[in-house]
Amino acid sequence: MTGAAVSDFIPVCTPVLDGNEKRYLAECIDSGWVSSEGPFVSRLEAEMAQLCGKRHGVALSSGTAALEAAVRALQLGEGDEVIIPDFTIISCALAVIRCGATPVAVDANPYSWCMDIKSVRAAITPRTKAIMAVHIYGLTVDMPAIRELAAEHGLFIIEDAAEAHGQTINGAPCGSFGDVSVFSFYPNKLVTTGEGGMALTDDDAIAARLRSLRNLCFTEKRFVHHELGWNWRMSNVQAALGVAQLERLQDAIAAKIAMGRSYDALLAPLHDVRTPMRRTEHSENHYWVYGIVLSRNLPIDAEYVMARLHEKGIGTRPFFWPMHEQPVFQQMGLFEGADCPVSSRLGRRGLYIPSGIGITPEEQQRVVSALREVLLP
Ligand SMILES: *Cc1c(COP(=O)(O)O)cnc(C)c1O
Repeated sequence: MTGAAVSDFIPVCTPVLDGNEKRYLAECIDSGWVSSEGPFVSRLEAEMAQLCGKRHGVALSSGTAALEAAVRALQLGEGDEVIIPDFTIISCALAVIRCGATPVAVDANPYSWCMDIKSVRAAITPRTKAIMAVHIYGLTVDMPAIRELAAEHGLFIIEDAAEAHGQTINGAPCGSFGDVSVFSFYPNKLVTTGEGGMALTDDDAIAARLRSLRNLCFTEKRFVHHELGWNWRMSNVQAALGVAQLERLQDAIAAKIAMGRSYDALLAPLHDVRTPMRRTEHSENHYWVYGIVLSRNLPIDAEYVMARLHEKGIGTRPFFWPMHEQPVFQQMGLFEGADCPVSSRLGRRGLYIPSGIGITPEEQQRVVSALREVLLP
């Protein structure tokens, strides 16, 4: 099997770090502030809080840690149910399970790929305590509907906006909707710190719990602890990257939208490829990644297409694999009887194609030509 020359390979995503990143990193080194005590950490917290109209930002070591911190800070545990999307990253389920609460998975909406509101409503029981709403691939959850359900049933909202930095829903920022809202700063996200995450809240007590959990649950009397904590701190070096990245967020969003529009046009003649919704009722697609779904007419699945594209020098990633079909959760007896056919189909027939903000129109053309050759040999 011969692949394209390595230099010709179009990766699925590469971070762009050509703003003030180097300058701020040099500041960390020159000042000696490399731990979590440095000034960039509180600056990134304040700037993210401002972006989302929240009172508190708490920087954490990853988006996964931020999700678990959110569930813990809301004091959810044994006997509590948290509704999560079936079609998401495992971090969402892990956060709930690690706190001893029970994740209840609901199916994806076939158009927005985000959690389906009718399914959320149907999953609410007297034990339900929270809804974890996750924006997927640049499309957004119907938050007005989630808010209504949460208010009606007295539920917390945990908003996972790891794929939605700078996005808005009816003009309100993603990250503004949760009792706790969560971001990731992994390198494929719209703002990266290398590794890192953030939890945002308006509630002083929740913010204090988030800060305590992050830092080993230290108390007034240093080295005396009343609770089990974690080391979920973010370093000043990581935060320095994030502050520089945040300065360029609007450029990154514009580049993603241009990339999405261009793929839309190039893919229009390929009738067996479903392209993403351009907008939901409440927001524009920001194309965090450009996902495609193979139509049922095609006798091949995403795995086949990804392997052929790889041979042609095109990087891809599969869509999420449904939570209710995860071997680890099946062994644990979780999600038994979950009815999530859309999520199952997306997991098998969905993939995303190169979506970095540095991608050129020529590279996009190469991606689509390669896809055409795979689908119409
Ligand atoms: C990336 C991501 C996470 C996890 O973030 P990490 O920083 O990689 O731990 C959580 N939720 C969603 C929706 C994500 O896309």
